[in-house]
Amino acid sequence: MATALVDPHNRTVRDLRISITDRCNFRCTYCMPQEGMRWLPRSELLTFEEIERIARLCVERFGFDSIRLTGGEPTVRADLPVLVTGLSALGVDLALTTNGATLARLAGDLQRAGLRRINISLDTLRRDRFCEITRRDALDDVLAGIDAARHAGLAPIKLNCVLVRGVNDDEILDFAQYGRERGLEVRFIEWMPLDGGGSWTADRVVPAREVIDRIGAVWPVDQVAARGTAPADTWTYRDGGGRVGVIASVTQAFCAACDRIRLTAEGQLRNCLFSVRETDLRAILRSGGSDDEVAAAVEAEVGRKWAGHTIGQVHFVRPARSMSQIGG
Ligand code: SAM
Ligand code: SF4
Repeated sequence: MATALVDPHNRTVRDLRISITDRCNFRCTYCMPQEGMRWLPRSELLTFEEIERIARLCVERFGFDSIRLTGGEPTVRADLPVLVTGLSALGVDLALTTNGATLARLAGDLQRAGLRRINISLDTLRRDRFCEITRRDALDDVLAGIDAARHAGLAPIKLNCVLVRGVNDDEILDFAQYGRERGLEVRFIEWMPLDGGGSWTADRVVPAREVIDRIGAVWPVDQVAARGTAPADTWTYRDGGGRVGVIASVTQAFCAACDRIRLTAEGQLRNCLFSVRETDLRAILRSGGSDDEVAAAVEAEVGRKWAGHTIGQVHFVRPARSMSQIGG
């Protein structure tokens, strides 16, 4: 019988975000420093068995019902479908967040392994801009990956687009149209100070309210009631063109409904994207720790979950890790 994990702010934690690698085939400017990234040696990454053990424990002991695989870029990890097969057997809502560049090859295998839903990140539909943002000439690969995910029957497919003022905020309507034409929910994300390189400034965040106003002026939208614990505020097009979402992580933080914890690729448990401390689950696993000991460590970390991030306040401290090392 599972016992729900309730944090000190009365939030039930039931969503585990697992970064399965810190490596990435892209170098998105808003996500990681452009110089000096050093990948973890393979021996430091949690093995699939270790990941599955922690995930199983969270599901069976604490009733977690949602697992999200992320990275770095999760599809660069060899044999990803093997991990998906193992985790899908847990019977929870399992999703993957990817930059989509290798999906043309992998989407079918992932679907057959038990993956149902997928989030694909894409920040521009223009090739030259794509190269500038990601440092890779791979826009066609990502677009082919999106098509492959659709043909493989993965659903829903959500497209994540991080907006940065002066970089891609002139593409909001292009993205809305791209999503409408393909039945994909585009989710515009406010840029958070997790680039690891210190290039974030508040004036380059594009507020979610502005995004919806600009889209609504062309295609009228209605807000879907009750967001629940999901970070996205969702809107439906009045003409039946599907849905569009905004993730207002900075201007309208949704911390009060946060139900998640995060595991880094090397097995550090974080109770918030912006945590400045972590619990070393890998050390417990590799020193022969019992399930009770791992469970106690998870429970203790949830017990330290703070009320919310403090971006914009004087005492805000940027975490040392970049988004690519935490997982988003
Ligand atoms: N590589 C995969 C991808 O790009 O989808 C998974 C990891 S990535 C860190 C997860 C999500 O975080 C992506 O949607 C990405 O756009 C988003 N992201 C990265 N840096 C961000 C930042 N500084 N602020 C907001 N979102 C960010
Ligand atoms: Fe890599 Fe994803 Fe970060 Fe881009 S957003 S650098 S693809 S981890």
